[in-house]
Amino acid sequence: MGGRYQPEDSLSSPRFCGVRTYMRLPHIRSLDDVDLAVVGIPFDTGASFRVGARFGPEAIRSASHLLRPYNGSQGINLFDHLSAVDYGDIPVVPGYIEETNERVAEGLAPLFEAGVVPIALGGDHSISLPELRACFAVHGPVSLVHFDSHSDTWDEYFGKRYNHGTPFRRAVEEGLIAPENSIQIGMRGPLYDPKDLDAARDLGLEVVTTDQIRDAGIPEILRHIRQRVGDRKVFLSFDVDFLDPAFAPGTGTPEIGGFTSHEAQQFIRGLGGIDLVSADVVEVLPAHDPTFITAAAGAGIAYELLTLVALKRRGD
Ligand code: MN
Ligand code: MN
Repeated sequence: MGGRYQPEDSLSSPRFCGVRTYMRLPHIRSLDDVDLAVVGIPFDTGASFRVGARFGPEAIRSASHLLRPYNGSQGINLFDHLSAVDYGDIPVVPGYIEETNERVAEGLAPLFEAGVVPIALGGDHSISLPELRACFAVHGPVSLVHFDSHSDTWDEYFGKRYNHGTPFRRAVEEGLIAPENSIQIGMRGPLYDPKDLDAARDLGLEVVTTDQIRDAGIPEILRHIRQRVGDRKVFLSFDVDFLDPAFAPGTGTPEIGGFTSHEAQQFIRGLGGIDLVSADVVEVLPAHDPTFITAAAGAGIAYELLTLVALKRRGD
């Protein structure tokens, strides 16, 4: 039943032993018999405020050693249905966004070509654009399901088109996502202009603000997300600042008034059955995360994403 590659058994060796891969999965670079690969993208040159998310993958991997293979809320042992590896990191070029974009797309291409689902650990949110480019080359335009307090659809920042505030505008412009099946969830916080979120809507994206979620309730929003996505393949992007800074202080641009870790789990768990072909968890910034709760949240969200892939493979 179980896949070829499984996590280390933490009933046999303590969880604090060994090299810190995600969930104690084997660090494997070959893609034979691999369904899913966790990939670090340790890049933070795209950040507009605090930097340091380059250490996000390391922190998430470290926190992930507490995770266990059976997801009780979803009723599934992930590795009964998944052969999963930690593929290691993409060698980014610190200080150079466009060069890094090329390396990320090149680095992920073999995974998509092999039918492997990459779960990327960021890194700032600029990394989603090259992920989407690599995804598009194999899967065509996907549905974007984007959790964030920001819509990241600015045209430019400081006159520059590539950074963590612009990836989803670029993705629409490049035809990488199908706007009519895409949705951004959780936007909140002060803006520059009342029309800021309309700019995302003008791209054809649907924007659901935190206020709207609070009014409608999470189950109603989940129904709506599923309807919006339809049968299309999904790229899910989770910016940890979707969470309230009480739950995720270690991030580049925190916004108060956000969600709890449990609410984020509810959102992801409520998407069982979607055809997830690629995902990322971004903007974990360990230097501002003294108690490691942001890294723990990032590790736990990634775990729910692995679960979605396992559920799909089980045939849910
Ligand atoms: Mn973001
Ligand atoms: Mn954000």
